[in-house]
Amino acid sequence: MGGRHGGGVRRRAQALAGGPRACWRAKREPARDAPSPLATHPPPLTGGLPPPLQVSLYRVTNTPDGSLVGWFYLDLHPREGKYSHAAVFPLISGCAAGDVGLASNEEAARIIPVAACVCNFTKPTADRPSLLQHSEVETLFHEYGHVMHHLCSKTRLHRHASFRCEGDFVEAPSQMLENWVWQPSMLALLSGHHSDASRKLPADMAAKLAASQLAHAGIFNMRQCFLAMFDQTLHTIPAAAPPSGGDAAALPPPPSTAALLERLHTEVLGIPMSE
Ligand SMILES: [Zn+2]
Repeated sequence: MGGRHGGGVRRRAQALAGGPRACWRAKREPARDAPSPLATHPPPLTGGLPPPLQVSLYRVTNTPDGSLVGWFYLDLHPREGKYSHAAVFPLISGCAAGDVGLASNEEAARIIPVAACVCNFTKPTADRPSLLQHSEVETLFHEYGHVMHHLCSKTRLHRHASFRCEGDFVEAPSQMLENWVWQPSMLALLSGHHSDASRKLPADMAAKLAASQLAHAGIFNMRQCFLAMFDQTLHTIPAAAPPSGGDAAALPPPPSTAALLERLHTEVLGIPMSE
């Protein structure tokens, strides 16, 4: 799903898969036969790109029994003609095989889901690997939440699979995962100097980064209130009464949206709009 969204939900990622025993392993594998007769095996995509820019294919398995959960492509860096934001595309949805017309002798046969995670992170250079900004790491976790949402979805009907859930839940798994990158202990695990991975982000810097998460959160949320009020006000302005005799020229002029924007901005945020 496109873009990042500010995460305020402090949950743990285990909730994604329905319980504390949910352990998933994503393993990069170029090609291999899938274990189920109904499992799709998407081809690796290299597209003639040099190795640092290639699209990787990952196979996700359930740790306790090794069963196949799904597949996802990881396309990390920009290139000409590529989609320019960050998003996860559900290529094949996990649902009952019979629902999509695939005959099966297995009552519980399922379609193995496939997703594509598309990002545009800082490119590697000739003398440096791709060094991600913290915001890019947060985006990666966010999008990986969508990947896991899609792969862990097990519905009978295709039309109910993964992102076709209640609208206000679609971003929830991603917001849960986003929170990991604001934990100092996680930052210590994730970080490392590119020339020496044992050199971690200093603890005081990690603490300051974590403390900065809520900086300006009030202004951000007040702006959302302002935009919502503008939308609601604009769409609830009563229609002008038709003039007697049907003289359209006698209709009052439509309200000024610019004036409304200015008034609500001052009322909600307490400061006038800048030019
Ligand atoms: Zn999203």
